[in-house]
Amino acid sequence: MKTSTTIHDEHMHLRPHGVSPLPRHAIAPILEACAARGVVPGVREHAPLPERYRLGPDGDYLFCMRPDEVDGFLEVFEGTGVAVGLEVDHLDGVEDETRAIVADVVDRARRRGLAIGGLTGSVHFIHGSVPDLERSIDKGSIPHILCDYEAGVMAAHVADRGAEAVVRDYFGCVRRLIGTGFYDVVGHLELLRKFDRRDDRGASVLFGGVEDLYAAEVEATIRLAAEAGVVLEYNTAGRDVTIGRPYLSDEAVRACVRHGVAIALSSDTHVPKHVARHFGDAVATLRRLGVREIVAVRDRERIATTL
Ligand SMILES: [Zn+2]
Ligand SMILES: [Zn+2]
Repeated sequence: MKTSTTIHDEHMHLRPHGVSPLPRHAIAPILEACAARGVVPGVREHAPLPERYRLGPDGDYLFCMRPDEVDGFLEVFEGTGVAVGLEVDHLDGVEDETRAIVADVVDRARRRGLAIGGLTGSVHFIHGSVPDLERSIDKGSIPHILCDYEAGVMAAHVADRGAEAVVRDYFGCVRRLIGTGFYDVVGHLELLRKFDRRDDRGASVLFGGVEDLYAAEVEATIRLAAEAGVVLEYNTAGRDVTIGRPYLSDEAVRACVRHGVAIALSSDTHVPKHVARHFGDAVATLRRLGVREIVAVRDRERIATTL
């Protein structure tokens, strides 16, 4: 394995969410922040979605790249030496279309002579039927909802399906993502907790009744990641949301150490100020939990940095 003495921020976006019309991807401000904080940039921009998911006023389902933006996105990498990487939504049932979309972006990047980074597979969409977009938007037969966009959607979904089914469905989706063999890294494994919080007794309001099941699902998923040789990310964005803990919990990191799963460190930044957020704490925590090195992915190959 190649080695590096520098920490890589392995999950960075080149524009914020929730701005309409969609702003252009911009790399210069992110690279300035990386230089100032001494981290190597690892871009993982949202890839275009399969066709029937291109919904909403901007055709982006609130967060993705539109296919007509791909060339403009690739253009910003010209002359930077930065590798092109993508965060890709795993969606059960449209795996072939997803793979073709991603292969096309990567081919176009290669034809421009750009370096290729890694592919991070993420589950933002889970099976559900509560409204997650404006009611005026016709979702057709899409069986998914976004689990990480609004707290109210997640609360309604857990009330609708029950915590047990929600937990089983989410981790099942992640395991099928791993099973595709298409991804280098699994994004924010515990994203399902984004809007979770603790009640007066310290129990999770969303999953407090199913913590044993939750722990078993995490364990089974990490075991599969070990068998598949896929990297999990330690995503510090979780520190800045309701639950206030990174995606992976300490228990999940211990399971990675136990099963020999490699870990990538990432901020999931969408704005320059969040580049390498909480990385000092993250490195200290990972060391304390027994992690000796973190990995980055370039040209689908791993680069290790000793902690
Ligand atoms: Zn994500
Ligand atoms: Zn992301």
